[in-house]
Amino acid sequence: MPKKYKLLINGEWVRAIRESSLQVRNPYNQELLGTIPKATRQQVDNAIQSAQEAFKITKNFPAHKRALILEHTSDIIKERKEELAQTITLESGKPIKLAKGEVDRASETFKFASEEAKRLYGETIPMDASAKGENRIGFTFREPLGIIAAITPFNFPLNLVAHKIAPAIASGNTIVLKPSTYTPITAIKLGEIMIEAGLPQGVLNILTGTGSTIGDAIVRDTRISKITFTGSASVGLGITERAGLKRITLELGSNSPVIIDKDIGVSLQKIVERCVFGSFAYSGQVCISIQRIYVHQNIKDQFIKQFLKTVSELKSGNPLDEDTDIGPMITKQEANRTKQWIDKAISEGAKVLIGNSHKDSMFKPTVLTNVTPEMKVVAREMFAPVVSIMGFEDWEQVIKKVNNSKYGLNAGVYTNDVKKALYASKNLEVGGIIINDIPTYRVDHIPYGGVKESGIGREGVKYAIQEMTQLKFVCFNSNIY
Ligand code: NAP
Repeated sequence: MPKKYKLLINGEWVRAIRESSLQVRNPYNQELLGTIPKATRQQVDNAIQSAQEAFKITKNFPAHKRALILEHTSDIIKERKEELAQTITLESGKPIKLAKGEVDRASETFKFASEEAKRLYGETIPMDASAKGENRIGFTFREPLGIIAAITPFNFPLNLVAHKIAPAIASGNTIVLKPSTYTPITAIKLGEIMIEAGLPQGVLNILTGTGSTIGDAIVRDTRISKITFTGSASVGLGITERAGLKRITLELGSNSPVIIDKDIGVSLQKIVERCVFGSFAYSGQVCISIQRIYVHQNIKDQFIKQFLKTVSELKSGNPLDEDTDIGPMITKQEANRTKQWIDKAISEGAKVLIGNSHKDSMFKPTVLTNVTPEMKVVAREMFAPVVSIMGFEDWEQVIKKVNNSKYGLNAGVYTNDVKKALYASKNLEVGGIIINDIPTYRVDHIPYGGVKESGIGREGVKYAIQEMTQLKFVCFNSNIY
């Protein structure tokens, strides 16, 4: 019997009222993994109320206790690595070797948060810089905002939830979490882990149900102080329109580029292998997947030859198998959408070098060339195992080509010319630049986020904490004596 998962409200696991539920299926074989409740409006209200009550405790909860709960969470995630990785793979279709990497990262994210919980500093203000500030002492401290609403996508069901919950708890906030409808079971397991780690009741509430109903109800609720959202640009934009006076962090999509200069001075195959990984890991369903490869004209033919050979060696199959590189896309509809975009590009002149076929949700790694900047496969976020290879000759021109995009998350730049690296660092319109590696690179304490339609704000535990806290200013007047 598939398991019936429950909502987490005020420290209790509760069923849906009227037993209304949604099915969670394995995208590889459609096996039913379990059902999740469709929370009602009343349950959304109960969850927010419980987070409001719990905030009365967490706002005064000492840092060393917050740190300890986060450290315990990190340890339990490590202990339950195999089970968590299996859950991620079963509900998301992510190859198990990548799912294990995600679990390691989530454990580290909580560890970083346990450390950052002890570093919420304010500063002293030199009041006498103004004549009217003489004989006064001013300082600031950081206070939690209140209730943080976290809305998360399907593709990193553990670590992207961790990136919202861990800093929120580290800084004394409470949380209402709405995980993706495709991958909610991992988040529910994280809820169990946090309770085991000693989290007081009501601090973390987990609501499942469709984004358009309960996600929307959460977004509009005036008791919520901040929304931290990771997902598509269209949903993110809708949230900004309905959220009212709340702080908002949006981690959205991209069509990430990598630029590969001539004469790098290392084996081209090393770069090819990293680019193949960055283009096709988790079937391209990563916000910093490589979608655009700009390779110097002098090495373009050789690069393409080696790239295609390496792609042809990728192993597709059951994502639970340790040697699988390519598993399914999240749904068959997403695979159909991918095929349509490629076929449209072909009708506009693009050439397929390998791939472009699928069986249900299993899409073959696809490489395109002869593309133009206007084609959807280049201009829009593919979020699929599809990459386009383009040539360039001039460094300033290629930077302009990269910037000719409505997105700007990470960019990768391979060059051994420090002037070019600095020029790229200064002129690329993105949130993060990775020199001599692919854009598909993130560790969990760096400031991470986008510009343009890739988002607003930064995550990475320390930076998320800044966005989940507010400065309070205090001034002591000694003129009174
Ligand atoms: P999505 O369709 O935008 O969904 C994200 C979350 O929003 C889900 O929990 C969804 O719930 C919820 N939602 C949907 N409609 C809503 C509404 N009207 N109000 C409130 N919430 C709503 O994104 P996805 O397909 O899961 O994830 C893929 C996208 O995430 C890609 O664009 C990718 O680039 C982006 N992403 C960005 C980053 C980053 O750090 N920049 C990282 C990972 C992914 P349901 O599941 O119930 O629909």
